[in-house]
This record gives sequence, C-alpha cells and structure tokens, in this order.
Amino acid sequence: MPKNFYSILSALIIGALLTLPVLAQEQQQRAAKPDSPEVLAHIEKAKKIAGTYWAQAEHFLCEAPRANPATDPGPVKLFDNLWAIPGQYSVGNAVTYVLPTSAGIMMIDPGHAKDVESVLLPGLKTLGLDPTNIKVVIAAHGHEDHYGGSAYLQQHYGAHIYMAAADWDFINLPRPPAPGGNAPANAAPPAPLPKRDMVAFEGVPITLGDESVTPVFIPGHTPGSLGLIFPVKDGGKTHVVGMVGGGFIAQGPASQVSEFIDSLQHFEEWTKKMKVDVEIQNHPVFDGFADKLTALRARKPGEPNPFVVGQENYTRFVELMTECARATMLRQKD
Ligand SMILES: [Zn+2]
Repeated sequence: MPKNFYSILSALIIGALLTLPVLAQEQQQRAAKPDSPEVLAHIEKAKKIAGTYWAQAEHFLCEAPRANPATDPGPVKLFDNLWAIPGQYSVGNAVTYVLPTSAGIMMIDPGHAKDVESVLLPGLKTLGLDPTNIKVVIAAHGHEDHYGGSAYLQQHYGAHIYMAAADWDFINLPRPPAPGGNAPANAAPPAPLPKRDMVAFEGVPITLGDESVTPVFIPGHTPGSLGLIFPVKDGGKTHVVGMVGGGFIAQGPASQVSEFIDSLQHFEEWTKKMKVDVEIQNHPVFDGFADKLTALRARKPGEPNPFVVGQENYTRFVELMTECARATMLRQKD
C-alpha cells in the first residue's frame, strides 16, 4: 500500500465533502438559469401556435410543468360512447376512459392498482356499468398510474390487456432497489404486474364489438407509449378522438426528448389522416379539461360538445406540444 494512501483517501473524502454543496449550488443556479434565446424562440413560436385557445397548455408545457391534483369531478359521460372516470387526476394520476361497446367494455388506462376498488369500480357502478363485462383494457404506456389496475381486471374479470411490445418489456425490467436500501415499513407493496398478454401494433385497430381504437407508436415518455385514435358519437354525429397517451416530458435526457419530438410529428400526421377533431389526455392537467367538464354539464340540447375542438385546433395542440418539447430539449443540452 503506498505510504501516502491515507492522505489521498482523506483528500478524496474532504474533496467530496467540499464538492457536494458546490454541486447543490450549481443545480440551484441551473434551475434558476434564464432560458437561452434559442429556448425563448421556441416558446414564442409555441405561444403563436397556441393563441388564446391553448394558452394554458403552452404555459404548462413550455414554462411551468406543475399541477396540483384536481378535486375528483366524479364519473362523467363525455360522448354517447365515451365515459371518463377522472378520480383526483394529476401529473401522477391518470384518467380512465371507458367505451361501452356492443360486446362489452373497452377501457383505456385503468389507473393505479391501489385505486381499483376505491375509485375505478365505484366509478363504473355510478355509470351503471358492470365490471364483469370489461373485456379489453388498453394501457397507453407502461407507467403504474396507467397500467397498474390491469392485473386486477385481468385476474378478476379475464380482461385482455393491450400494450405495445416495448412497454410489456419495459414494465418487466428488473427494478433496482430504492436508494438507501430497504423501503420504509409503511411503504405500499409494489403493484402487481399484469401477465404478458395482447400486443398493440401501430395502425392495427383494437376492436371490441362496434368500437375500434387505433394505436400509433409515440415512444419517448416510455419506449412503448401509444397515441390513440378512435371515433365517438355525439347525438348521432361522429367525431374522432386523439389522445397523446405518452403525456409529456418535463425533463430527461435530450435523446429521449428528441425521440418524443419525432413521435409528436408522427402522431400529427396520423391525426390529420384520420381527421381527429376531439382532444382528450390521460393526464388532462393542461388542456382545459375542468372547464370543458363545467361547460359540458351546462350544455343545452343542440349546443356544441366542448370536447370537440375541430381538426385545425387539434393540429395546433400537437404542434404546440412539439414546440414546447423542442424548448425542453434545448434546456437539457445547456
Ligand atoms: Zn407516464
């Protein structure tokens, strides 16, 4: 062992101790760092695209990606054949969408495993739906707040679970233990995984009875995130829903954000092709969801459905998401 081993060791330890506060300080400075002119240019462009209609989305996605959990508005019928069970929806808590079909229930994002018996099943009951009729469950991406409840629905009702192959792999990756060793004694047990089941393919409709949902691959948020497109009826008139099921990326490696930007452009092409004119999100914290619900409740016969935004407006929504993702990517590179 070299004579100066202990002095090197103590230098390393002291060095590390000195470096820690400096690093913390640097991180703080980084957080407070003003945006570069390039980032600001993307924000300006996003503001132009957004106009007043999507101003809330622009502010959230480009400038302040934070939102408090919403007060649970209760289960609600959005269209003749599309119902929502929002729960206390937030950035970490997805809304469940329900499509009653001629052959049973199709569901998008069953939510957290812990909320199945307290939110999801009571929500279905309020809507007059029988959970034993759940046949198809689509998880828009492989995070627990989206697929978590699916193991329960698979075990109890024999529901088929659809995910992109990449996210079946993703949820089955061995997870490293939490930093600091064992989880605290009062920590919730890990949510059960659904058994590997149906694979969603891009452009191949997932059909149950008279309803079909078309998945589009939009990797970025997770490797197998899905955009979903499907028709809905409103008083006999058909509209087409678009959902960017891979939410947004507030921060992350530039390569991941770059992939997400490509995905948004890809999804935009699909939504134009399929004439999407209804906008919904599984984390509707930035698209005026609460206001639209209020408008929907006050809606009189013959008035437009507030969730129908129109094709041109929908395109603007995806384009402003893309601009804000560009701003996010440049911030990661700084
Ligand atoms: Zn997620």
